[in-house]
Amino acid sequence: MVLVLACIVPGVVGTAVLISYDYQNRRAQVNEDLITTARAMVQSIDSQLLRTRALAQTLATFGGIRKDDLASFHAWATQVIADTGLGLNVILTERGGQEVLNTRARMGEPLPMHGDIVGIQQVFDTGQPMISALYTGAYTQQLGIHISVPVLEDGQALYALSVGVMPSDFDEVLIAQNFPAEWIAAVFDNTGTIVARTHSPDVYVGQKGSSDYIRNISEFLEGATLGVSREGFALSSVWSRSAVTDWSVGIGVPTAQVERNLRVGMMWLAIGGAVLLSLTLALAWVVARRITDSVQALKAPALAMGDGEILPEPQVSIEEVAQVAGAIRQAATLLKRRRLDLELAQRTNMRELERQVDERTQDLLVLNHKLEQLALADDLTGLQNRKAVYARLRQEFLRLKRSGRGYAVLYLDIDHFKRINDTFGHETGDQVLHELAKVLVASVRESDLVARHGGEEFMIVLQDTDMDGAVTLAEKICAAVSSHEFPLVRQVTTSIGVTIAAGKDIGEEDAVRRADAALYQAKAEGRNRVCSRAPD
Ligand code: GH3
Ligand code: MG
Ligand code: MG
Repeated sequence: MVLVLACIVPGVVGTAVLISYDYQNRRAQVNEDLITTARAMVQSIDSQLLRTRALAQTLATFGGIRKDDLASFHAWATQVIADTGLGLNVILTERGGQEVLNTRARMGEPLPMHGDIVGIQQVFDTGQPMISALYTGAYTQQLGIHISVPVLEDGQALYALSVGVMPSDFDEVLIAQNFPAEWIAAVFDNTGTIVARTHSPDVYVGQKGSSDYIRNISEFLEGATLGVSREGFALSSVWSRSAVTDWSVGIGVPTAQVERNLRVGMMWLAIGGAVLLSLTLALAWVVARRITDSVQALKAPALAMGDGEILPEPQVSIEEVAQVAGAIRQAATLLKRRRLDLELAQRTNMRELERQVDERTQDLLVLNHKLEQLALADDLTGLQNRKAVYARLRQEFLRLKRSGRGYAVLYLDIDHFKRINDTFGHETGDQVLHELAKVLVASVRESDLVARHGGEEFMIVLQDTDMDGAVTLAEKICAAVSSHEFPLVRQVTTSIGVTIAAGKDIGEEDAVRRADAALYQAKAEGRNRVCSRAPD
């Protein structure tokens, strides 16, 4: 929109300025044309007046005037006036204003004083030709002008010779212009009196021009002004005055018509401007659409780049935008490559991390196992400890409940161990415990468990063993211990309580209690023996 506006605003302003300039120009041109016409008309009037003056001068050279042969002059002058068509009549006037000859009157007819005595006097006084203002002829009693020259004899003015001209003689100048009917044109004499007029000459000829007109022509040879016609409507008028005769021509065109013509011109110019602006607008719109479409075509590839995708380059009609599209695609490709590199590096790092975690986990598991072993081991004998044996008992008990596989529990206590300690010292007591552990382990299957229950008490769990098997093994242990030669102490005996776990036992402790009871019995019966207690 901004682009479109930027394109048409100068055009709109330019057109407005152009229309305004054209309006002024055409108005000035109209005036200029009218002034030119008025000037030509003035020249034509001048030429008519000067030709008439030349005729008067020629007539004044007629020798008969000086010889008082006025009759032949009358005849000749009448003939010349008729032949040339210049002027109405010829008058000879004496100093003082008395007419002595008038071609409109017969020879000898009494004649009046000249109608323009002042003008005639001027000819006698200056000895120069003159062109009169409009006056009323004394003989004809008609409005007219006279162009008078002196008739000289020996350097002295004998008569004033006047050629009379009728105002209607100037109508031709007006008619020749062929002005439109509503235009008003008038011819003025050197006093600003209307001599001829296109409209109502019978009313206005002989009247003075308006005071504005008289002032204008007295100040300037030519010009244009706005005024009001005698008939009372607004006129756009021009005038041109002759510097030679001071006669002038005024042409007035009704202002409404001038304005109408100018407005028509202005309207065509405005229509032309509007058409051009519309074309500009359409063109700007097309260009703007191309730009916005092209730029918007970049949106999808740019957004896709954010998602790591690479879209094909959009088809755009603007070279620069196509370059940007290419750059986006290049950037998208680079970005994707980087992302892939990054993912690869991350995966590699992750694998390495996982491997290290696995390694650590493995170490931890090993360590944990070791710790567990340590927690379940007895320091002194290297056997499992009390905690381990109860865990095993729990395990066996659950298996019994689940699959009915039985097991036996042997509770072993060293006989008179206090005495050993007392006799050989505590360290030797420890050695006995250590040695005994070896004997016990050697006596059982690998799947069986030998644990130090605490102090000089041991517990053995036998898998898949019934009461007979258990008692037999217990006796074998009892015999193996008593027959084993322990360093320093030599012989050590043990008492063993035996039992088996039963299906109706409530918990693993039930079997332990029975074994303990059997052990108690073995002690009571004299030691170094095996006693058993079957489940109830
Ligand atoms: P009985 O035949 O009735 O079992 O007689 P006993 O002397 O063995 O009696 P009891 O079982 O009550 O005594 C256990 C003795 O074992 C008491 C204690 O001083 C000794 N003892 C317990 N644990 C250790 C140990 O770890 N090392 C040593 N050296 N002696 C221990
Ligand atoms: Mg004991
Ligand atoms: Mg004991």
